[in-house]
Amino acid sequence: MKITVLSLFPEVFEGIFNSSMIWYAKEQKAVEIEVINFRDFSTNKHKKVDDYAYGGGPGMLLQVEPIYRAIQSISGHDQAYKILLSPQGKTYHQSFAKELACIEHIILICGHYEGFDDRILAFVDEEISIGDYVLTGGEIGAMVIADSVIRLLPGVLASQDTVEDESFYSGMLEYPQYTRPQEFMGLIVPDVLLSGNHADIKKWRIEQSLKRTRERRPDLLQKRDKKD
Ligand code: SAM
Repeated sequence: MKITVLSLFPEVFEGIFNSSMIWYAKEQKAVEIEVINFRDFSTNKHKKVDDYAYGGGPGMLLQVEPIYRAIQSISGHDQAYKILLSPQGKTYHQSFAKELACIEHIILICGHYEGFDDRILAFVDEEISIGDYVLTGGEIGAMVIADSVIRLLPGVLASQDTVEDESFYSGMLEYPQYTRPQEFMGLIVPDVLLSGNHADIKKWRIEQSLKRTRERRPDLLQKRDKKD
């Protein structure tokens, strides 16, 4: 898979794209990542990419042309799935990550300032929001999407079971987990996990998953019921 990010702040991706799972995924050639500064595609001699809004109003808007030109410069841009990070988009969640993980090339376009010239929508496939709050720029959203998609790619996590057990994958939260020591300040690991009985452990985990989801995110169970 290939992920191309368009941003005015490519340097903010260095840490996250060169550490942990994303670094490993790149090493394994499961993903190729490129980050492009769309300021390089400004037609302005001062490399400006923003301007005042027609009709007035606070703040500056990103112009459509530099972003359009940056998209056109990307090899394979015609076939790539182009996503605009925007608080006005469809809310991102795990099933969306699963769908994106099946796409060969995605382009993530990060806004800034007051937002975009709305005509950019003519050149993208989808607007995605990472939640109902407003961020300064799309970079954190692009990191969220890249990370959640890359960890689903084959060969990135040690086992496919890890992905399938995780919260949201099957529409439920994951069961509680424990590691050494067996007792910490009177807090103990449930006996069943020490029993070595795999059938009992599996049953306990399913029950705990359901209990936790019912207590914390009953909306997830309602969604599952509707699907069935
Ligand atoms: N004026 C815009 C509005 O009210 O819809 C918000 C602009 S925001 C300050 C600047 C940029 O940050 C947006 O264009 C978008 O790329 C990104 N952004 C902000 N909040 C976001 C969110 N919840 N999800 C995804 N991207 C977001």
